[in-house]
Amino acid sequence: MTVRVGIGFDIHRLIEGRKLVLGGVEIPYLKGLFGHSDGDVLIHAICDSLLGAIGGTDIGKLFPNTDPRYEGISSIKLLEKVRDLVEKRGFKINNVDSTVVADEPHLEPFKPKMSAIIAQTLKIDEDCVNIKATTNEGLGEIGKKEAIAAFAVASLEKK
Ligand code: MG
Repeated sequence: MTVRVGIGFDIHRLIEGRKLVLGGVEIPYLKGLFGHSDGDVLIHAICDSLLGAIGGTDIGKLFPNTDPRYEGISSIKLLEKVRDLVEKRGFKINNVDSTVVADEPHLEPFKPKMSAIIAQTLKIDEDCVNIKATTNEGLGEIGKKEAIAAFAVASLEKK
C-alpha cells in the first residue's frame, strides 16, 4: 500500500461587495474574498493538497485565472474536478485536515456544514474531513481583516 500526502496553502484578499464563501458555505459578513472564482480560500487549499498528493500539477495550472470558464465559478465545482482527477489517477482519499486563518468572522458555527459539503463532494466520510479555525492575533493583513488564509493536508492511498 502506497500512502501519499500533499500540502496546500492559499490566501485571498477580503473586499467589500463580494459574498463570503468558505468551505462551500455562504457566510454572512460585510466583506467577501476577492478572486476569479468565488474566492473560496479553504477549498483552494484543499484542492492543492489533493493535487500535491497525486503530484504534477496545481490549482493555478488546472484552472487558470485568465480562463473565462472559471469566472465566478463555485470552488466546489473545482473540487469536484480535482476529485475526478484523483480517482482517474487511481487514488483513494484517506483524510483531509485543514486550518482557516481569519480574525473575522467567527467560523465555529459554520464548520459542521463546511465539513459535510466537502465530505460529500469528495465522497468520503464526514469524520475524514477536519476543519480548524484560528485567528492571526491581530497581526498583519489577516489581523487587519484584509485577508483570509487556509492550509490543508491530504492523505491519499494508491488503489
Ligand atoms: Mg485561490
